[in-house]
Amino acid sequence: MKVTFSCPQCFRWLSLADPLPTEWRCDCGQTGILHLPESSESVLRACVVCGNQQLYRQKNFPQWLGLSLLTIACGAFFVLQLLYQPAWAWTILLGSAALDLGLYLIVGDVIVCYRCQARHTGVPSRNTYAPFELAIAEKYRQERLRREAGRSSS
Ligand SMILES: [Zn+2]
Ligand SMILES: [Zn+2]
Repeated sequence: MKVTFSCPQCFRWLSLADPLPTEWRCDCGQTGILHLPESSESVLRACVVCGNQQLYRQKNFPQWLGLSLLTIACGAFFVLQLLYQPAWAWTILLGSAALDLGLYLIVGDVIVCYRCQARHTGVPSRNTYAPFELAIAEKYRQERLRREAGRSSS
């Protein structure tokens, strides 16, 4: 399993891979304890960074990649149409759509923590996680805002 999370102190992204340490240390001096699942059960029940039990599943697919593929394909489509090459235009458009779908199917899942946004990859796939739910994310966003407001006023 690999974990990527942002340091709560300096917001730099940190990345930890197997074997996961029990403690992490950021360049800014911040340290923390990892909530590792017990070795007897290799399922991930809670975020290893903050211990929060609400997690969601997402495709580990960089959105910019899908978007830029689509943009390039559409651009090529119109240029080739202008050049009176409709067969090539359609080949490129459909080919890129197929490529997009293929990529989507081969990339694995990433398990994201609602609270601290830590991303867990390489998680055993036999346990299931619910997809992203806006209502839950909103609850955690409100909690974060309250916490930040409390910190700045004190
Ligand atoms: Zn830091
Ligand atoms: Zn977390």
